Amino acid sequence: MRPFTYTAARTVDQAVEALADGGPGAKVLAGGTTLYDLMKLRVENPRAVVDISRIAELTEIDVSGPELRFGAGARMADVADHPTVRRDYQALSESLWRAASQQLRNMATVGGNLLQRTRCSYFRGGPAFPCNKREPGSGCSAIDGIDRHHALFGGSDACIATYPGDWAIALLAFDAMVDVVGPAARRTIPVADLHREPGSTPQREHNLAPDEVIVRIRVPKTRAGRGSTYLKIRDRESYAFALASAAVGLTVSRRGRIEECRVALGGVATRPWRVPAAEHTLIGERLTEDTARRAGEVAFAGARAGHHNGFRIELGIRTVTEALMIAGTRATR
Ligand code: SF4
Repeated sequence: MRPFTYTAARTVDQAVEALADGGPGAKVLAGGTTLYDLMKLRVENPRAVVDISRIAELTEIDVSGPELRFGAGARMADVADHPTVRRDYQALSESLWRAASQQLRNMATVGGNLLQRTRCSYFRGGPAFPCNKREPGSGCSAIDGIDRHHALFGGSDACIATYPGDWAIALLAFDAMVDVVGPAARRTIPVADLHREPGSTPQREHNLAPDEVIVRIRVPKTRAGRGSTYLKIRDRESYAFALASAAVGLTVSRRGRIEECRVALGGVATRPWRVPAAEHTLIGERLTEDTARRAGEVAFAGARAGHHNGFRIELGIRTVTEALMIAGTRATR
């Protein structure tokens, strides 16, 4: 590990100042479940680490107003298990429960989780494997390599790494936003605009400046939360990343017609991936296996398979279909 400076910030302003002082090589340390890993692998080599885990205001959870408000430093397990989130926003709760392991969920924060880096094994595999994300301009080992877990949507000639998170997929389905603080200003970024497709700069994964900190996640309240689910399909049922996942939220009229539909995909794209075309196919329809399947097919219509990941198109269609049927049951009870 290379030497670095360490600052334990007590306030958000102190954190922002320390990040600015640390320059472009500074990194935020929250739960520590990703950054330490990547430092040991020498994928991350920060010159300065700014620890925000002691900032009390970042851990607040408030569901009393017209939106759910989660401090970025709240632990994944605490948000997943919050009674209101469990009861009224099952997709949010399930997306957290189905991530990582209990030990990691007890440590990791909901802000840090949004910014977790890809699990592409070439990215984490060290200098033997060219990787444009780790070392811009070096090439991409995955494009002609083993791409079983790589993206079906949003890839480029430079990178096809999948965004690995679950929580961001559910947040995207619910039009969540993040509040961000930097040295010059505070601003709000919709989760839909937080993550970037790789394009020609895969090393840039999100639209935060290096000296900005996420302080809060806000989710507008909606009835679709009651008719929601996050379904995650993976190689094993625990402690694994998604081969395909879907966050779905529905409202259904008294006559049994779908009034509101939200569908976002995880595990299949270079960033959290919402599919408005699939949502529109269901508005005004009755939810059946056939209409749900049709929405799944529309969701995956633009998928681009590589050498080993084509099986995940049909898997993804079935994931969306099943998620819609689960959400439909919940929306009508
Ligand atoms: Fe690197 Fe992206 Fe290629 Fe993986 S897919 S090797 S992260 S450039």
